[in-house]
Amino acid sequence: MMRPEDLLCPGPSGLYSPLGDFYVDPVRPVPRALVTHGHSDHARAGHQAVLATAETLKIMAVRYGADFAGATQAMPLGETIRIGEVAVTFQPAGHVLGSAQIVVEARGCRIVVSGDYKRRPDPTCASFHPVPCDVFITEATFGLPVFRHPSDAHEIGKLLASLEAFPERAHLVGAYPLGKAQRVIRLLRDAGYDRTIHIHGALEKLCRLYEKEGVALGPLAPATVETGRKAEFAGAVVVGPPSAFSDLWARRFPDPVPAFASGWMTIRQRAKQRGVELPLILSDHADWDELTATIAELGPAEVWVTHGREEALVRWCELAGIRARPLHLVGYEDEGEE
Ligand SMILES: [Zn+2]
Repeated sequence: MMRPEDLLCPGPSGLYSPLGDFYVDPVRPVPRALVTHGHSDHARAGHQAVLATAETLKIMAVRYGADFAGATQAMPLGETIRIGEVAVTFQPAGHVLGSAQIVVEARGCRIVVSGDYKRRPDPTCASFHPVPCDVFITEATFGLPVFRHPSDAHEIGKLLASLEAFPERAHLVGAYPLGKAQRVIRLLRDAGYDRTIHIHGALEKLCRLYEKEGVALGPLAPATVETGRKAEFAGAVVVGPPSAFSDLWARRFPDPVPAFASGWMTIRQRAKQRGVELPLILSDHADWDELTATIAELGPAEVWVTHGREEALVRWCELAGIRARPLHLVGYEDEGEE
């Protein structure tokens, strides 16, 4: 069997396959890119050719314009195509709409690039599909034992309880525009919240795309406060990008409750620094238990750890008798979780 590095090797532009002459989630423009999902650190504009799921291609078109790449090809989940000597299959990653793991295989060696992933069910995207492999490339955004995300129902329950306790205050929920925002809205709907939810302009196109792709979000309205109508937002839920809530925009709402949906809300100091009154621990990334359970389930001979807190997970693998190394790839700071 060949060395896994001959199938996929880390470089300054990202993971490169010498046998297939393609990159996975390259951080610089390349001739041929395979893209796991639409977050901007993984999906960049300017490649000559992009292979991704149909949803990811649509997300890229919304964010960068229709001409974001020279050519595009939609990859159906579960199908296998050959690129050079490499068999390539996309499988769902459970991260955001359209997110996929990329399985590459040649000469008896199989590597799974998980991209970003999580294991708990998410009503806005297909669930992570475990693929046994020789090398598993895992993210480690929350790769420390301190990160154990509570259940979604628990966190959404906190928001609903606050709405009940403060019916006169606008609840401003900071959530990243791709994935998190739609998940928060969908989770509210699943919990029975049927009032109109107000969204910041930065979310509009992506919410519309999610709806078109079959994720019902219920009644939405623009979060525009006209003079004298401030009172209409009493007790309302307003969802917007976290950056919007730190500026003047937020002050237009009546006595706002600043909330923030992010895996980082586990760290109280972080919530406090951002002036978050209602931290909601909702992450689109695997927490420590999901990371370690996934590695244990897949049973790879080797684990490559990337973007995040790499060392702790590498150490965990070594203690479990699995060869592991950090990849130190540059340029992946997930906008989905900052
Ligand atoms: Zn991501």
